[in-house]
Amino acid sequence: MSVIVRFAPSPTGYIHIGNLRPALFNWLFAKERPAAAPGRFVLRFDDTDTARSRREYADAIFDDLAWIGIHPDEVVRQSDRLALYDAAAEKLRGKGLLYPCYETADELERRRKRLMARGLPPVYGREALALTAEERAAFEARGIRPHWRFLLPNFASSPFETQRTEVHWDDLVRGPQTVDLASLSDPVLVREDGSYLYTLPSVVDDGAMGITHVIRGDDHVTNSGVQIAIFEALDYAVPTLGHHNLLTTVDGEGLSKRSGALSIRTLRDEGYEPMAIASLAVLVGASGSIEPMQSLGALGARVDLSQVSSSNAKFDPAELGRLNAELTHELSAEAVAARLAEFDVPPQDAEAFWMAVRGNCSKVADAAEWARIVYRGPSQIVFSGEDLEFLRTAFTLLPAEPWDGDTWRVWTNAVKAATGRKGRGLFMPLRLALTGVDHGPELAALLPVIGHARTVQRIP
Ligand code: GLU
Repeated sequence: MSVIVRFAPSPTGYIHIGNLRPALFNWLFAKERPAAAPGRFVLRFDDTDTARSRREYADAIFDDLAWIGIHPDEVVRQSDRLALYDAAAEKLRGKGLLYPCYETADELERRRKRLMARGLPPVYGREALALTAEERAAFEARGIRPHWRFLLPNFASSPFETQRTEVHWDDLVRGPQTVDLASLSDPVLVREDGSYLYTLPSVVDDGAMGITHVIRGDDHVTNSGVQIAIFEALDYAVPTLGHHNLLTTVDGEGLSKRSGALSIRTLRDEGYEPMAIASLAVLVGASGSIEPMQSLGALGARVDLSQVSSSNAKFDPAELGRLNAELTHELSAEAVAARLAEFDVPPQDAEAFWMAVRGNCSKVADAAEWARIVYRGPSQIVFSGEDLEFLRTAFTLLPAEPWDGDTWRVWTNAVKAATGRKGRGLFMPLRLALTGVDHGPELAALLPVIGHARTVQRIP
């Protein structure tokens, strides 16, 4: 059986690193599982909530996924598929499994409170199911339109006498799961205005598209119990389910699409590498260390859904900074070539320049400052007294070209012999004269990049 997965965001905001978790878990499961044939990845926009869904968010989600390296095989929008949901709702009505309800939200709330006051679970009592045809007609005559509930299969003969009805599945992440359908209210599938809530369209799409594996956040565990019942009522095969833990802030608060701060686009604009973000999104909240992976292939080899913890995963921005720096220190010159060109690093220098500076960059953008120092010259430092004399002597001893990785050693040995200076007294004035700052890349690597012509311009 070939794998078909889907990532199903609602386009109501920009996706953040928490939303990226299901996207990546699904992508890696379909595409990057060692020794597994590649499967298909569907991007499905859950946009039946027309008031909050926006096309520009859908486009932004598509772009953000592409930047991370997720390229869907197919993109679908639920708003294009309403006829399918209408047909499914009709099928359920025909089986007596979707019934009209006329209660107002206030009325339902009052009933809930009464049940809770009596120490009973606040489960919907199916009062609307008991309405006679005349009573329903009376509501309709008053212009009250129904919302529609799915009749959960949690009873033997009378729907008003529910009994424990366990739904089981072997969760890819959490292992064996059980939901008791008698503990749940019949879910509303269709609103008064005829629009669909998430529950039914999701099942119809998963069923009709032959989705084999549904990997999503553990806020959907209870939904899964309900949805399994709907899959069965509609004669669809139930996919394999996996529910991963959710990402929260360090304080344990949920991440919100509206907060924007941790959106993938903000992180991109702040100069984080896609693989630093992807590595953290996937490896946080699981057993095993969080290390930056250089590619989605390498990340796929590391991920093991059964090792994902069942408690929340906490997002620490400092961790992203650490991963990004570690990743940057290992990036190849090829991977950053376009960005180095933006910093006016000549293409023929890119390799040597990047190898010299990458260890000093937490973000690739940090290289811009080193490019400025190397190619435009350091900020002017005024030397005086012994240091000035030392530097003037030192610069008379510059080795002849060609320069290579050994030039710095040859030069400083000659300077040491001529001046008697050593250690910091020898190296620091040279570093300051060459770069204008008292810290930075190994000069053995940087000096050949600065090159002879630019070095002599630095003679104080
Ligand atoms: N639109 C739903 C969500 O974002 C999808 C859940 C699912 O994957 O089924 O939570």
